[in-house]
Amino acid sequence: MYSMPYQGRFDEFGGQYVPETLMNAILELDEAFHYYKDDPEFNKDFNKLLNEYAGRPSLLTFANNLTNELGGPKIYLKREDLNHTGSHKINNVLGQALLAKRLGKTRLIAETGAGQHGVATATVAAYLGMDCDVFMGREDTKRQALNVYRMELLGTKVHPVDTGTATLKDAVNEALREWTRKVSDTHYLIGSVMGPAPFPEMVRHFQSVISKEMKEQIIEAEGKLPAAVLACVGGGSNAMGAFYHFIDEPEVRLIGAEAAGRGIETPYTAASINTGTKGVFHGMHSIFNQDEQGQIAPVYSISAGLDYPGIGPEHAYLNKIGRAEYVPVTDDEAVNAFEVLSKSEGIIPAIESAHAVAHLLKTADEYSKDDSVIINLSGRGDKDVAAIARYRGKELYDD
Ligand SMILES: *Cc1c(COP(=O)(O)O)cnc(C)c1O
Repeated sequence: MYSMPYQGRFDEFGGQYVPETLMNAILELDEAFHYYKDDPEFNKDFNKLLNEYAGRPSLLTFANNLTNELGGPKIYLKREDLNHTGSHKINNVLGQALLAKRLGKTRLIAETGAGQHGVATATVAAYLGMDCDVFMGREDTKRQALNVYRMELLGTKVHPVDTGTATLKDAVNEALREWTRKVSDTHYLIGSVMGPAPFPEMVRHFQSVISKEMKEQIIEAEGKLPAAVLACVGGGSNAMGAFYHFIDEPEVRLIGAEAAGRGIETPYTAASINTGTKGVFHGMHSIFNQDEQGQIAPVYSISAGLDYPGIGPEHAYLNKIGRAEYVPVTDDEAVNAFEVLSKSEGIIPAIESAHAVAHLLKTADEYSKDDSVIINLSGRGDKDVAAIARYRGKELYDD
């Protein structure tokens, strides 16, 4: 059996590296999560939100044309792109917001880089009648003006952060500081399987609905387990959600596609497992892109959702024990896969998800014709169209 984390650790990874002033809030959250995750009333409310607001269960679509083009394996797409707000992020945000309400919190805070997690948090805050403040590096607010306006439309206040490099890691620091100031009424809603315990386990729990559904759907369609499950990895939440219920099925390969950017041999990469080293940041011990002094290094990927400079501790663990494989995929390969899936299946994937598609395009011959594989389509690609056009040398006006 896959061993459960012991005191918030996955072997050496994870932990709770936070200031003393946050320990009470972290312990309160830890206790509440472990109580409510098995509470029938809580699960009834959570499932109702997933079904009636997010639109679950999401479909498992057979990619007939792509399967024929590649000559096998049978390719299935888990359609997280069809969820409300267009990605898997809503699963986690609904779970944590509901838990925060049980704890009597009235306000959510979050940090966001590209704005996707900020928008998901703002959405749920609006729906559940909570206040919401989002911290975002000043540079990112300029690059992602559309998402800033979206959050404002949803009733959230966006705070540009000017410290450091004015990007995601600085927004993380600011959100942690703000949580320290306002722990009594505020929940810090972390958007991926990272941060101090219990966040990595909690976010994986709320996202594991993905593999729970996948398993039922693939057995229904094929009568057997898939040969592999593929997902893109930024912080690692959609991948953990897609992997979780298959971890104890050793015949199922678990493959995480990291953003290699311009290549793992260049400094323009965000592939943490392939290029990073062990360290402590964002309240956890894990693998990060960092310089020789241990400072978090700038990361790069065409995909804004994948350019976090680290990876969640459970992935660091699955990598260490060899249960999951982590492979680098470049911008070029991802853009190509973005176009291939759009033309072959009429589904425009998020550029993040296109990284997982790209890896299968490269490795289809590792499988037999009778095998099935599932690609977790973490989100839809409408948000990326202008950037892909620009990558191809075409300037659109509505970015
Ligand atoms: C945010 C995002 C990701 C990356 O986050 P993970 O925690 O690694 O899942 C991937 N795909 C989409 C569509 C996203 O919005």
